[in-house]
Amino acid sequence: MKADLLIKGISQLVTAEGAGPKHGRTMRELKIMEQAAIAISGGVIGWTGRESEWEGEAEAIVEAGGRAVVSGLVDPHTHAVWAGDRLADFEARTSGSIYEEILAAGGGIRSTIRATAAASRDDLVALARSRIDCLIASGATTIEVKSGYGFTPEAELAMLEAIQALSAVSPARIVPTLLIHIPPAIATERSSYMSQVGEELIPEVARRQLATAVDIFVEKEAWQVAEAETLFHLAKQHGLAIKLHSDQFHRIGGVELGIRLGALSVDHLEASGPEQIAKIAASSTIATILPGVSLHLGIPSAPGRKLIDAGAAVAVGTDLNPGSSPVFSTSTALALSVRLNGLTVEEAFVAGTVNAACALGLKDAGRLEAGCTADFLVLQSSDWRDLVYTLGANPVRDVWIGGKKAR
Ligand code: FE
Repeated sequence: MKADLLIKGISQLVTAEGAGPKHGRTMRELKIMEQAAIAISGGVIGWTGRESEWEGEAEAIVEAGGRAVVSGLVDPHTHAVWAGDRLADFEARTSGSIYEEILAAGGGIRSTIRATAAASRDDLVALARSRIDCLIASGATTIEVKSGYGFTPEAELAMLEAIQALSAVSPARIVPTLLIHIPPAIATERSSYMSQVGEELIPEVARRQLATAVDIFVEKEAWQVAEAETLFHLAKQHGLAIKLHSDQFHRIGGVELGIRLGALSVDHLEASGPEQIAKIAASSTIATILPGVSLHLGIPSAPGRKLIDAGAAVAVGTDLNPGSSPVFSTSTALALSVRLNGLTVEEAFVAGTVNAACALGLKDAGRLEAGCTADFLVLQSSDWRDLVYTLGANPVRDVWIGGKKAR
């Protein structure tokens, strides 16, 4: 075979094997090949195997120098577009206030909504780009980015347009999601906002292909199950996938709704109990856990270990956002899932690659196999486990996206 590029000198080549999602015990099954090489043509992997078995010709050769190479990470849950900061909230909370008190007092998310509305699109793109660059440097090659800091359909569209502009300038594959985040505080405005979302925003987003999924924050202080159900039905009618922020602080039925409607993922799950765990495990919906939130807010960690033991397919993301998870590293999120959610090293890797890709509805990302996009990482170490071991330094040396060195 003829290849554009051969990456050789790989101490360990590590990938999940076969298409996901991987449920339960199969989350521990990795393919680890020693003294390996990868051949790439047209940005796609043409061949992987032992270096000694390569018999083709390559136009260019890159030497990995005895380092481990792993599939590129997929960050399935970020809010990377925002303006302003939440440093005052952080200080208030670390001095004793709780998140919901800050939210109820008009701080928290509402202050981010105001600052984001006041920013120009160029500013939003520039701010988000530097954050996305951090995630790429940490190993993310596919990144979901949500809207959700708009308070009007126009503001949500402006955020999605910023995400589209970001996608055009970033080497990473950006997957846009429309997030219906916080309802207006006044009840009458709440129902009129819901009709605007259902009648104007969702159809417009679908028509312009500004998002592939609709996400709703289902929580006591946010949207209720019946409201979310109405909007999800409309989203599905317009061909959009659905996902939920559910069971973050209270289990009010978000998980059950997501599973009933065939959501791609139910995200958060810090407050999920045995009934929710059993329901997720019996479904094809991915459980996306976000350990950065538990670390930053000091709330209980999602039951990652119990979910996997029950047979669920778990994914991990940063939830990068200014209020509850200022985590700018996708590999750190995986490292935290081992410490806070009880995942094994292998499970964390699968959660951050093939299962995270499935949480975005992608079948060709998060794996290193012939036919997949050539998204991979050259680590600093010769041992792949360093990816989820290291804290506070970057275990990722080089990031390749679509067969091109992105960093
Ligand atoms: Fe989130």
